[in-house]
Amino acid sequence: MDLVLFGIQGSGKGTQAKMLAREFGYEIFEAGGALRAIAGRGTELGKTVASYIDHGHLVPFEIIMQVVRDWVSAKPASQKILFDGIPRDTDQMHAFDALMQELGREFRCVELIVNEEAAIARIINRAKEQNRADDANEEFIRRRIALFHEKTQPVIDAYKKAGKVTEVSGEAREQEVYTRILSYINI
Ligand code: AMP
Repeated sequence: MDLVLFGIQGSGKGTQAKMLAREFGYEIFEAGGALRAIAGRGTELGKTVASYIDHGHLVPFEIIMQVVRDWVSAKPASQKILFDGIPRDTDQMHAFDALMQELGREFRCVELIVNEEAAIARIINRAKEQNRADDANEEFIRRRIALFHEKTQPVIDAYKKAGKVTEVSGEAREQEVYTRILSYINI
């Protein structure tokens, strides 16, 4: 069973993904990381992707769906995958559902819920450590969180209706949040 992690930037999603991957052998598909790698290549595609990332906009549907399709299709069915950062809107959700069905992959979701102001403070700290331009200013971060509410929340709500989502409070130490996730998803 694959996992999809949802949470605003700064929710601790990336850290939890790594902990789950290490203990249970998931491979992580991190949409933002995969797109940043393409943006860093300096090709025409890379320049296009960079222009969206740098403005805090979602990269076009066709590009991200091709990236995820190529990545997932290359994995054997036995390899569990943890998705971080996709699906980000309802169009992506429909395409993602179709892709997963086509590949015979099942998934459930965990939503990490955190206080937004605390999350913003965490992102600003992380940006200083990782030198990420798109995380460097608060206005950008707020725009991305607004985008999450507008575009990604409807995805979570749809998956909730389908009974696929477990909500976990992310307001605790990393290890405690991890324990909560494990107790809920019962891997
Ligand atoms: P993240 O690391 O998840 O904050 O993503 C960084 C940036 O990559 C986002 O601001 C978007 O520009 C882009 N991005 C990440 N995931 C997606 C996605 N699923 N669809 C479109 N663009 C994405």
